[in-house]
Amino acid sequence: MLIPPGSDAPSAAAQIDRMREWPHDPRTRAPAAAAEGHPPLDPAFEAAYQAAQKSLNEGGIPIGAALARDGVVIATGHNERVQNGDPIAHGEMSALRAAGRQKSYRDTTLYTTLAPCAMCTGTIIQFKIPRVVVGEARTFDGEFDLLRSRGVEVVVLDDPRCVDMMRAFQEDNPELWAEDIAEDPAG
Ligand SMILES: [Zn+2]
Repeated sequence: MLIPPGSDAPSAAAQIDRMREWPHDPRTRAPAAAAEGHPPLDPAFEAAYQAAQKSLNEGGIPIGAALARDGVVIATGHNERVQNGDPIAHGEMSALRAAGRQKSYRDTTLYTTLAPCAMCTGTIIQFKIPRVVVGEARTFDGEFDLLRSRGVEVVVLDDPRCVDMMRAFQEDNPELWAEDIAEDPAG
């Protein structure tokens, strides 16, 4: 938009001054995503997202998960229904299996690209995992009430990448999606 001369709009010089100040704004010091108004990327969540993408690239269901302790990823996993014919291998279950035996989960966080189903919620409760970070709950609402009723902290990122990935997958593969969440196929 052109600013007419003599208007109350900031002068070009003032705008340039503001641009010079901009890099000193602490909000812009984080990665590019933060400069666009998103919170800084969490490496453990990114590991879960990458696992989901890997599954998608393999022709599988694009749901990924990661188990982390103090922000350090212990293991990642993704849904393996298609790849291994394993109906129990949801992303969360695969990540927990890959993590192997843990003396305690009390200091861990489970990251998952999609809201956990009843099976994975049961495992989170059983293992006493105190915190779950979820990419999105728009395409599947999961069992947040049950998790929270058992004292599990649930953080929902509402990450548009996860929403887009699942929406596209569900539209392209309605029968496979219905199978994974034990629903009768729509229509
Ligand atoms: Zn599940």
